[in-house]
Amino acid sequence: AKDPVSVLVTGAAGQIGYALVPMIARGVMLGPDQPVRLHLLDIPPAAEALNGVKMELIDAAFPLLKGVVATTDVIEACTGVNIAVMVGGFPRKEGMERKDVMSKNVSIYKSQASALEQHAAAGCKVLVVANPANTNALILKEFAPSIPEKNITCLTRLDHNRALGQISERLNVQVSDVKNVIIWGNHSSTQYPDVSHATVKAQHGEKHVRELVADDEWLRGEFITTVQQRGAAIIKARKLSSALSAASSACDHIRDWVLGTPEGTWVSMGVYSDGSYNVPAGLIYSFPVTCRDGEWSIVQGLSIDEFSRKKLDATAEELTEEKALAYSCLS
Ligand code: NDP
Repeated sequence: AKDPVSVLVTGAAGQIGYALVPMIARGVMLGPDQPVRLHLLDIPPAAEALNGVKMELIDAAFPLLKGVVATTDVIEACTGVNIAVMVGGFPRKEGMERKDVMSKNVSIYKSQASALEQHAAAGCKVLVVANPANTNALILKEFAPSIPEKNITCLTRLDHNRALGQISERLNVQVSDVKNVIIWGNHSSTQYPDVSHATVKAQHGEKHVRELVADDEWLRGEFITTVQQRGAAIIKARKLSSALSAASSACDHIRDWVLGTPEGTWVSMGVYSDGSYNVPAGLIYSFPVTCRDGEWSIVQGLSIDEFSRKKLDATAEELTEEKALAYSCLS
């Protein structure tokens, strides 16, 4: 039998946490034959609720679940973890300036970076979900210099999956037959959902989404805004945010990273830019990636037309500003 993998979930008493931990315990994240240990962290005001989550995990009697640590101590939570899913963050409350939220999150991610750096298992893979996800991940990277930058990522897979979903609905095809959409940039409203290279499985080979959706206006307009604003649409409908799909896509992100992407398929991940596609190096930016042997690599050589170029640059610009704002909060 395999040794258990230890998975940290921060903000585990929150909405996404509540949807995510049972998925991990059922093997959705790491596979149906991989035992797991869960490390659940939250802040002291949420300690009682966190303990309730632990009680439910015990009650669910998950065969793969080999232990649960529920704690408000960041060091205890980070000790020995192989995977860290960072969901905890300070929410933007009414009347708060962007800078105030940034400043709260920068200090959270700075301190958690140190705890992970000192106490996580070697080779720990980190996924940041809490917003502003790209910039929180960047701060985590900067303050955990001994964690290789390739091990620190942020979630844009939900946006990626939303794009697959919209194409599948529009063309009335199975979502599993659609692939290779791309989310470029920031996990924010400036993200660019791009279908220039996306395909749909047809009876004989693959067809380009661009050909199948003849309506370019829809692809360049409503499709993009629907994906960008899907989070707000769900809050409006549910009066709560999109926790189920966020949790599910976090599992997809880690699963593909650890177990690999299928041949000929890429996914979107927020990763440390090396300057590919003329995106400024040193940002955490969402790119198309393939994964193999536990490592991602950015898909190279895709053509970028003028429409796309502008969108890639606009979201990079926003991330450059966020980075400057984050640094101004540190000093
Ligand atoms: P959620 O579980 O709904 O969301 C957690 C974070 O994920 C938020 O930053 C949220 O951003 C972000 N997020 C990213 N993508 C999505 C998405 N598609 N849908 C919804 N959220 C998304 O928040 P809760 O308030 O329920 O839970 C947060 C937990 O974090 C609480 O248990 C709280 O106690 C804890 N916490 C921990 C802190 C720490 O570690 N120091 C500090 C503050 C809170 P957005 O805000 O933009 O919705």
